[in-house]
Amino acid sequence: MKFSSRIEKIPPYLFSEIDKKIEAKKAVGADIISFGIGDPDIATPEEIVETLCSESAKSQNQGYPSYFGLQEFREAASRWMHERFGVDLNPSSEIMTLIGAKEGIAHLPLAILDPGDIALVPEPAYPVYAMGTLLADGEVYYLPLKKGNDFLPELRLIPAEALEKARVLWLNYPNNPTGGIAEEDFLRQALDFARGNNLAIAYDNAYSEITYDGYVAPSILEYADASDEVIEFHSLSKTCNMAGWRLGFACGRGKILEGLGIVKTNIDSGVFNPIQLAGVTAFSIMKETGKRMREIYKRRRDLICNGLSKLGFDVVPPKGAIYIWMRVPEGFDSVGFSSYLLDKAELFFTPGNSYGPSGEGYVRISLTVSDERIEEALSRLKNTL
Ligand SMILES: *Cc1c(COP(=O)(O)O)cnc(C)c1O
Repeated sequence: MKFSSRIEKIPPYLFSEIDKKIEAKKAVGADIISFGIGDPDIATPEEIVETLCSESAKSQNQGYPSYFGLQEFREAASRWMHERFGVDLNPSSEIMTLIGAKEGIAHLPLAILDPGDIALVPEPAYPVYAMGTLLADGEVYYLPLKKGNDFLPELRLIPAEALEKARVLWLNYPNNPTGGIAEEDFLRQALDFARGNNLAIAYDNAYSEITYDGYVAPSILEYADASDEVIEFHSLSKTCNMAGWRLGFACGRGKILEGLGIVKTNIDSGVFNPIQLAGVTAFSIMKETGKRMREIYKRRRDLICNGLSKLGFDVVPPKGAIYIWMRVPEGFDSVGFSSYLLDKAELFFTPGNSYGPSGEGYVRISLTVSDERIEEALSRLKNTL
């Protein structure tokens, strides 16, 4: 079978060797503590599950959902955007249900890129911005995120040739994997830059509710004008522990949302209505759920950061998202350090370069591990070093 050139452009998975090693160890009964995955380990709140159960029994909820989302869900999302960010959006035209944020992120390039058009994509990053671009025959121009610049891209360094063909700037704060955050001045600067260069902004706000030390993440729409082509992605996966439910939404005032809607109308048929109704319940308890999750992740973050610092690692507690982005010790590269820990301590930290070349020299440590397992991991590390 010959695959399309589109598929051929998708780079091979870099870490199949490490994956094989993990599988082989598990097969012989190794007790691996994995800090690799970004999948919340805590249960979905009961009220949300109860709504799904009761609503899915009703026959009127069992048919095809509406393409752009159930009105009740979009109204709940709109109310939440208003209460949480002070952003007013029309639920009928400025909010669209997604099968998880990932679905919208992956499909957006099909709506806005022609072959050869450029997407400006940060790296290290969640891989879908670049892969969605390649699947739409677009080209990726990478913007390195460096610690020295607080993991913000340096927009003024983008060469004119790239800008000429660029159609969209992807941004994600609180950031996966670096834990970086974006303040108002950067977001205003990005909006000015987009206006000046005729770019849309696609803003991934999947971690808006998971922040620490008093930091509250904004929506970029707080600072956008009505005429700006800005689309913001939200997810219920991380905040409400609903990763498997596949529920999120896109919002924005420009025409860009309409384009994504055309793609979606022709590819998927929306999210099961009872899941969207469960999402309405999720919004109704978002404040409490968010607070509880922030407390759990903060405790884990502090346990890991304090433990690692005591062992001499160079680690900075992130202000947002659910990952610690740590420099590997002198003498190791990302894959080397990750393999070393796997062999010596049966611990898994994700090699940073799996998120882009600027991630070389880092590992990503996910906070989706219980306190007890964190303590166990720290004691294994201590005995290993
Ligand atoms: C987890 C994650 C998503 C995916 O969200 P879903 O709603 O589960 O599709 C999107 N963006 C980033 C940066 C993530 O880490």
